[in-house]
Amino acid sequence: MKALLRVKGAEEPEILRVPLSNGIEAELHVRRSTRARRVILRLSPRSNILELVLPMRASLKSGLAFVREREQWIIDCLADQPAHRPLQDGAMIPFLGENLVLRHIERSRGIPYREGEALVVPGLPAHLPRRTLDWLRRQARDIITPKAREKAARISKPVGRITLRDPATRWGSCSPSGDLSFSWRLVMAPERVLDYVVVHEIAHLRELNHGAAFWALVEELFGDPTAEKQWLRTHGPALHSYR
Ligand SMILES: [Zn+2]
Repeated sequence: MKALLRVKGAEEPEILRVPLSNGIEAELHVRRSTRARRVILRLSPRSNILELVLPMRASLKSGLAFVREREQWIIDCLADQPAHRPLQDGAMIPFLGENLVLRHIERSRGIPYREGEALVVPGLPAHLPRRTLDWLRRQARDIITPKAREKAARISKPVGRITLRDPATRWGSCSPSGDLSFSWRLVMAPERVLDYVVVHEIAHLRELNHGAAFWALVEELFGDPTAEKQWLRTHGPALHSYR
């Protein structure tokens, strides 16, 4: 393990490559935290990136020793992660219950467009992943925003800002002031699953907790969400493998 590393006080992590005994190299992001009371090691389920959070007074050496002691845990976790599915010409991406095949075309201008089962992506080959992700994000915004406003109107609740993000584990969130946030990756799920997450967050506009009244409201707006919740548990993590 490399010992030469300057850890800055800022939020920007320092990045280390950690060779593991199974021959894999893990990417370790090291950052300092004024709030952390102890050394924390976590693994981002979407990116296979390890994050090491050090309290201000802890030495980097002790942090790296902490990582070494947990090497088997790291190896086991990485083995459980969904494979990285690169966005490239010919790759399949799920989209609202369908599968779209990515088709790169040599044309410098224009935005991606649907052509039957294909998503045609113009531009340089190197820009295909970013342009595809931008397209998915735009679709998510165009699909989720009106659905959220329509559901909120049904319970006569005002909605604040609606933002699309890419959080590692959450599909949606609702702030006490009525701002909603959704994972744009929901457009890669079947539409019924996306609808459930929208209804879930809208129901929080009236019921902030997950009590009986909350689930009764979900049931009223959506029906029984058991299958959709199960889908997210089983297939949700894989949606993070498209990068
Ligand atoms: Zn909730």
